[in-house]
Amino acid sequence: MDLSIVIALYNEEESIPELLAWIERALSSQKLHYEVILVDDGSTDTSWDVIKRESKLYNTVTAVRFSRNYGKSAALFTGFEAAKGSVVITMDADLQDNPEEIPELYEMIVAKGYDLVSGWKRKRKDSKLTKNLPSKLYNRVARGVTGIKLHDMNCGLKAYKNEVVKNIEVYGEMHRYTPYLAKIAGYRNIGEKVVKHQARKFGKSKFGMDRFVNGFLDLITLWFLARFGKRPMHFFGTFGTLTFFVGFATAAYLVADKLISQANGLKFRQVTDQPLFYISLVALIIGMQLFLAGFVGELVSRNSSERNIYKIKERL
Ligand code: UDP
Ligand code: MG
Repeated sequence: MDLSIVIALYNEEESIPELLAWIERALSSQKLHYEVILVDDGSTDTSWDVIKRESKLYNTVTAVRFSRNYGKSAALFTGFEAAKGSVVITMDADLQDNPEEIPELYEMIVAKGYDLVSGWKRKRKDSKLTKNLPSKLYNRVARGVTGIKLHDMNCGLKAYKNEVVKNIEVYGEMHRYTPYLAKIAGYRNIGEKVVKHQARKFGKSKFGMDRFVNGFLDLITLWFLARFGKRPMHFFGTFGTLTFFVGFATAAYLVADKLISQANGLKFRQVTDQPLFYISLVALIIGMQLFLAGFVGELVSRNSSERNIYKIKERL
């Protein structure tokens, strides 16, 4: 199998017939052996009935249906598990992503050797301010944190080497960061292709402004996991020790200063009369807490089932 097209969908009943026909049209001139995997993410409209009806028209379409709405990441993960093609394409079901881009994306993976190619909706057809502006800002932050130079990290239209999708775990709302997940898993050859983008024809967008808040938090989580997930003590321990010693040194200085002044019969202030003393107390407590967080983190990581899963790429 050359190509698997994985499509996560939630309440997209009007789009599905046109979507499948469009994919078929776009790929009919290509000599590609392909499959379309539809993942119905617990739709509450008639999407599943439409899928049952429409899939009879093609021998390329398979589908799975979730018992409830688990989210786009879960849907993609399930599609990735099923994908048999040597190249895997993801796209949205809402007719915003153009299937005619698929052959070129496929070529970039096969001929140019990319591990992952992300679409770039240079001319976005979404409502202006609420999406486009925050998206620019968000992508800039994402570039800085991940070190991957993509303009449109969250583009639904992407192409992957099969190996890549089998080695990344897309959960929560991490579908936004598959390039970062791929990079963390050791697939660093990541490219970008400008893709055509259409306005949403039917239905409405499933993600609101909270995507930027959640997206940003997820980014921090991934960054932290990639760096310190396997050695939390190095992170918490460093800050904990530092904070503790600053607190300790300050408190010691205050006590010593008072005792010396007192012994020499000079004017002195009670330690507890000095604001600095309370700051140093807080530092002592926070330092200890951070240190403990590091210990607990190490305990959790020791018990994690993933502790010794090292993905081997090749053997000789
Ligand atoms: N989607 C999904 N599960 C969800 C939400 C969305 O499978 O819980 C699908 C949706 O049907 C569409 C794709 O994810 O195919 C992208 O969603 P949407 O078009 O709403 O996002 P936007 O284009 O506004 O970023
Ligand atoms: Mg959309």
